[in-house]
Amino acid sequence: MKHSKKMWLIMLLGVCVVIIQYHISSTWLVGGSNSGTGNGLSYADPAVAAAVREELLHAAIGRLRLDDTISVSIGQKLLHDLIMQLGHELLAVGACGEVSVPAAADSSLSQVPLTSYTAPRLYIITPTYRRPEQIPELTRMAQTLMHVQNLHWLVIEDAENKTQLVSELLHRTGISHDHLVAPMPEAFKKRKGPKPRGVSNRNRGLEWLRANAKDGVFYFADDDNTYDIQLFEEIRTTKHVSMWPVGLCTKFGLSSPVVVNGTFMGFYDGWVAGRKFPVDMAGFAVSVQFLLQRPNATMPYKPGFEEDGFLKSLAPFEPKEIELKAKNCTEVLVWHTQSKKNEASAALDLTKYNNTNLVILKQLIV
Ligand code: UDP
Ligand code: MN
Repeated sequence: MKHSKKMWLIMLLGVCVVIIQYHISSTWLVGGSNSGTGNGLSYADPAVAAAVREELLHAAIGRLRLDDTISVSIGQKLLHDLIMQLGHELLAVGACGEVSVPAAADSSLSQVPLTSYTAPRLYIITPTYRRPEQIPELTRMAQTLMHVQNLHWLVIEDAENKTQLVSELLHRTGISHDHLVAPMPEAFKKRKGPKPRGVSNRNRGLEWLRANAKDGVFYFADDDNTYDIQLFEEIRTTKHVSMWPVGLCTKFGLSSPVVVNGTFMGFYDGWVAGRKFPVDMAGFAVSVQFLLQRPNATMPYKPGFEEDGFLKSLAPFEPKEIELKAKNCTEVLVWHTQSKKNEASAALDLTKYNNTNLVILKQLIV
């Protein structure tokens, strides 16, 4: 390992230790006490201090995970142990740093909890395909998932071959992943009207789970949605099938279970169309064990009815058994955002721009 890297690592560990010790001694009050002034932004506010400490430690862990040079040099095992140790320290800090939330703040989103490495593993199944928006969408999504612990990302391209730029992006993020391909069958590609988008990819994901996973929880997360990282901690505790609201969905702007006094009463969705489960793909998660107990569960190639068909294939399973997440479905933690479709870019005039940076840039875009 290079000398500078070593120094950097030692300094980083030093900072972590100092932060933890400061916490334990409970005397890290920057700028003195200003309680009662109402601005609430000083470190004297225990909640802010806890958030700052947490952020610093998260950043430290993130840097360690991302730096390939370091991981290669000091060995995966050592790095893993180090991350585990810091993770435990974080948990300990989180536990003793807990502050009671005032009643007035009850309606705000809860703070993202820290998750130990023993928490159930998350499998995120993401269909994707080559188009101008692919890399930007996956960049955004990856940089959300980089905040989530104990996660395995299945990125499955509707293509004959893997896109090299996608492979490189996935590698750079440091996220545990498998990059697979599952092209849409030709018969559906040729068909006029709506296509079963992302179905071959998701079924490939299910096949991968059946072959490789024993427990944990999986979630079909399209590449173009917007995810609050709190959602992933909600999903993790799924016993069988859990559901929650999805924003920007259908003419109602929302798709959600209807809940009365903590009890599931039905579905709210702008397009019901006789579906038993009128929900969005982004609105449910399933336990891996629950899937494994249902060897025939699969997603049908039926545009508009993919979610309903898949959830029905999980029989025996009834709507009343749904586990409600996001504070009894009172929070929106995922949005069905859709990017503007962009035309493929015009060809580069090589007589004019040969030997310029544009030749390289052109290879990065569609
Ligand atoms: N998708 C795919 N092949 C296609 C079209 C879409 O793999 O031919 C993927 C896409 O990347 C996304 C998911 O399938 O993750 C759903 O597609 P899209 O976002 O276009 O559907 P919508 O959200 O509009 O229902
Ligand atoms: Mn979409």
